[in-house]
Amino acid sequence: MTTAIFTHPDFLAHDTGPGHPERPERIAVVWEVLDRDEFRDLPRFEAPEAEVEQLRWVHDPAYVDAVLNAVPDSGHVRLDADTVLSPTSRSAILRAAGAVCAAVDAVLDGTAKNAFCAVRPCGHHAEPARAMGFCVFNNVAVGAEHARKRRGLTRVAVVDYDVHHGNGTQAMFWDDADLFFASTHQSPLYPGTGSMSETGVADNIVNAPLPPHSGTVEFRQAMERRILPALEEFQPELILISAGFDAHARDPLASLNFTGPDFEWATRKLVEAADRLCDGRVVTVLEGGYDMVGLAEGCAAHLQALMRA
Ligand SMILES: [Zn+2]
Repeated sequence: MTTAIFTHPDFLAHDTGPGHPERPERIAVVWEVLDRDEFRDLPRFEAPEAEVEQLRWVHDPAYVDAVLNAVPDSGHVRLDADTVLSPTSRSAILRAAGAVCAAVDAVLDGTAKNAFCAVRPCGHHAEPARAMGFCVFNNVAVGAEHARKRRGLTRVAVVDYDVHHGNGTQAMFWDDADLFFASTHQSPLYPGTGSMSETGVADNIVNAPLPPHSGTVEFRQAMERRILPALEEFQPELILISAGFDAHARDPLASLNFTGPDFEWATRKLVEAADRLCDGRVVTVLEGGYDMVGLAEGCAAHLQALMRA
């Protein structure tokens, strides 16, 4: 068993317009990494479209309908200041969430040791009734509920090391003691949430904000002192990772100083936790990452850690 990849050509077609940082080139860069000799043999699967019912597990039904009805026949439609739909977006936004559900199935069925979902758009800012920050549907949260509603799991954890706080995932998990969300993120930075005092209904939310220019030392301390112990205590049956690579030192949207080895280390620590806690069940989902060199470096390091599991 090895690491399975879930992706789809339509992620390239999601057109956000000229000059937008969340651009098609991002997924092309990830595919270039996947075509390297060391990753070429990883089994790849087409991401299926999520069902509307699956989206409604975490989003208001009226929001899901409004988004799908908003997909334009031509040109672009803005859902918020920086979240854009084009005529080709429908398949991408459905498949980005569907990828995580299919990856959860593969890992729970034992056909893959773990799985990486190479998707766009990202999802962790999407709230129950609001698109935000390039995110339309909350891919990782849909995957977590798929594990519970269709596969009989009870306790699911999401760890999010994207440089931005995953406000949408936090909002969806806040009231449910059987869902765990932990995040390292730069603070202050968009979207402004994620303080240590935000702890959820049962201390099931763990935020570790990092000041600008934090790097290896601060990231590893936050993981080792706060996030990993809380994850162990939560006793998840499945660990999902919101794998953003915009905390990389090269990223233009933020000012943390992570490098490839930091992403390898964090992924490895989470895989090791999964080995102890839940038969190694890990599903990871691409979130941000806007410098193409940093994105490639982060993805490669992340995959290396998953493959060594
Ligand atoms: Zn981000």
